[in-house]
Amino acid sequence: MVQKIDLYMSCPVSRTGCIKYENPGYWEHADCGGRMYIDTDTDMGCYRCNYWSNWKNWSFACSRHPLRYEHMDDRDFLKNLGLTVNLYPANSNDKAVLKKILEKLVVSLF
Ligand SMILES: [Zn+2]
Ligand SMILES: [Zn+2]
Repeated sequence: MVQKIDLYMSCPVSRTGCIKYENPGYWEHADCGGRMYIDTDTDMGCYRCNYWSNWKNWSFACSRHPLRYEHMDDRDFLKNLGLTVNLYPANSNDKAVLKKILEKLVVSLF
């Protein structure tokens, strides 16, 4: 069964300097404004319009580069997402799902 969690992380685009700003937040799909998720198939998608694609296909814009959608470095993405593990309560289901996703992301790097 595929499990989803809300995508919650700081901007993973290091070429704009964003990775230095540890300021995690939720992400919105540019096309419709819906909340984004990441799932245990390592796909990212939008709850509202149901569009989804592999995590490596997405690009990101944030308040530092609002009109520039940039591809992230895969390792920066992993690092930023990994930092949010500690923000979940130890016994939360979301934390367990996020750990599962991180393990699959690591595998998909190689
Ligand atoms: Zn959408
Ligand atoms: Zn950014």
